[in-house]
Amino acid sequence: MNSVIGIDVGGTNLRVGLFKDHQLIKMHRTQADFSALCREASSEVALINIVETLQMAIHALMKNEPTVQAVGIGFPGFINPTNGILASSPNLPGLLNVDIAGLLQSKIAMPVKIENDALCAAYGEYCLQQTHQPSGLIYIGLGTGVGGGLIYQATPLQGEHGYAMEIGHLTIHPHGRLCGCGNLGCLEQYASATGISHTYREFTGQDCKTDVIAERAQQGEKLAQASFDLAASTLAQGVAHILKVIDVVQVVIGGGVSQAWPLIKPVFDQTLDLHLIPVQKGKVQVRVSTSQDKAGMLGAAYLALNAIDHV
Ligand SMILES: [Zn+2]
Repeated sequence: MNSVIGIDVGGTNLRVGLFKDHQLIKMHRTQADFSALCREASSEVALINIVETLQMAIHALMKNEPTVQAVGIGFPGFINPTNGILASSPNLPGLLNVDIAGLLQSKIAMPVKIENDALCAAYGEYCLQQTHQPSGLIYIGLGTGVGGGLIYQATPLQGEHGYAMEIGHLTIHPHGRLCGCGNLGCLEQYASATGISHTYREFTGQDCKTDVIAERAQQGEKLAQASFDLAASTLAQGVAHILKVIDVVQVVIGGGVSQAWPLIKPVFDQTLDLHLIPVQKGKVQVRVSTSQDKAGMLGAAYLALNAIDHV
């Protein structure tokens, strides 16, 4: 049976999986901090290094697997939907208008497709639901930032320029925190891991990572829980706005912060119900991803396979 490789480029590591018939056959996880690399090296050196790292990870997985048909990459950045060129990446400074897929394709001599990482995760979540598959879903990745991906009527939507579903930059608090995008009060300033740490610092003066704040909230520390409550109400307002524009039945929450969902859920549910229009209430299913980060690789792999099937 033919196989396909999917790569999920994360903040500090690379997950590479080999799939057959939507099943993960084997995977590797490699340390790769592309963000630090892009900050420390010139863009030329960073690009060469990124392509070599991807190539080595693919070769390691392809041993004794002669039937690999294509490679898909989920990459954090804006991907031009017509030519696959990475226009820019907020967390990988200096990488501007680079053809990572094309460079890699010339080295490994097989089709390579690159897509936005959140869109890959959305498509992976969609593919994983083989029974009762919805016609569409929204995926929201709560990590260092907040990313979004949309599957609408079974089709992954990139947008005309590859900017669709940049939901992390929805303005929720118009007089709120300054965001890297230049606006005030963006969703990711409150609902990301960075945002929750920021809130907790404002409340307590302490610098803590999200997992420590989660532990403290579980132990009953009120200001820790309040930090998750602000993330929850901000996220719910954002989701309500999106659902008024895009009418889908399912919202999937993924990324590291989703592990703390029990701390987020009560205020999220309450706020979402408050902000949805009456006809929508009770019709949206919000669930936490159960793919254990497999969705990004799976989505990248099958978007690549779909692309060669349609050539
Ligand atoms: Zn922003």
